[in-house]
Amino acid sequence: SLEMKRIVVTGGCGFIGSNFIRLMLESYPNLSIINIDKLTYAGNPANLSDLEGLDRYDFRHGDICDREFVDSVLSSGDIDAVLNFAAESHVDRSILDSTPFVTTNVNGTLTLLDSCRQHDVPRYLQVSTDEVYGSLGTEGFFTEETPLAPNSPYSASKTSADLLVRAYFHTFGFPAITTRCSNNYGPYQFPEKLIPLFISNARKDQQLPVYGTGENVRDWIHVLDHCRGIDAALRKGQVGEVYNFGGRTEMTNIALTKLLLELLGKPESLIKYVTDRPGHDQRYAIDCKKAETELGWAPEVTFEQGLQETIDWYLSNEDWVDNIRSGEYLKYYTEQYGGR
Ligand code: NAD
Repeated sequence: SLEMKRIVVTGGCGFIGSNFIRLMLESYPNLSIINIDKLTYAGNPANLSDLEGLDRYDFRHGDICDREFVDSVLSSGDIDAVLNFAAESHVDRSILDSTPFVTTNVNGTLTLLDSCRQHDVPRYLQVSTDEVYGSLGTEGFFTEETPLAPNSPYSASKTSADLLVRAYFHTFGFPAITTRCSNNYGPYQFPEKLIPLFISNARKDQQLPVYGTGENVRDWIHVLDHCRGIDAALRKGQVGEVYNFGGRTEMTNIALTKLLLELLGKPESLIKYVTDRPGHDQRYAIDCKKAETELGWAPEVTFEQGLQETIDWYLSNEDWVDNIRSGEYLKYYTEQYGGR
């Protein structure tokens, strides 16, 4: 297990990155973190406002596609690892316009790989997704051996990045580890994603747009379980390897929607079925045996407890949600759901 003193996290102002940075700084009192973030619509410095003034935390505003900028961060020479969370992350947006997905997810990853090589960074971790495996029928699970078969522009761009990471390991012996996780939920998730979107809409008695018949199945994992998995992979993982993480909680979107309404005390009449997402993957389910046996990791948060805590968090952080739901986001929401 590696001793880490200073790491670089990219995309740390987003949902998972901000949870990861907070968890790591709490868990390791001698660790310093540099956070590189471009602050796109999804990057919100308020997600880490509690860290302002902490000398172990250093925010650098910049783009992972900007080689000079990345070099300026990595050239200090004392970086123990780079973890790449930065991405365009929302499937629906990738259907409206794929270009920023290729730019950040593919070119940005390549820029990081090249800069890490140049500066001899001893560990690189690529945060990836189970969506690279495509879609399952009613049976079976994704393992690390499942062939890559992405179906959306988002997942195609994430797969492309994974393939570059793989190639850099095989070609150059580049010390990279890749993690692939199922759908995350928890605090600080941008309210375009299903769980925070539906909590926020239901709170205001606005309709919940459910795609198609809502029979698509997702495997939900609490964001902190994902973050603990990334930490375990960073410290105990073998370079060149892939580790899958999942929450062992499969649920159809419609069952989840009804559960949220029940927990919020809101009527099912708020459900509004809308035209299905084009190419909508039917089912994702993760086999995380490899991470359990090789990393000693297992999900700790039950869905029941995690979902209730998540609901409570969004209900008691209304200002955080309302700030995001005004401005640029409103324009996207209107385009996506026709102003419903
Ligand atoms: P997010 O959209 O909430 O955050 C992405 C962050 O990256 C934002 O802070 C944004 O400003 C930043 N960013 C975007 N482009 C950048 C660029 N060019 N340079 C620097 N920063 C940039 O995403 P998230 O949900 O936190 O996901 C983080 C990572 O985890 C992504 O790589 C995503 O593919 C992966 N992932 C997400 C999930 C999930 O359920 N959310 C599941 C598995 C994997």
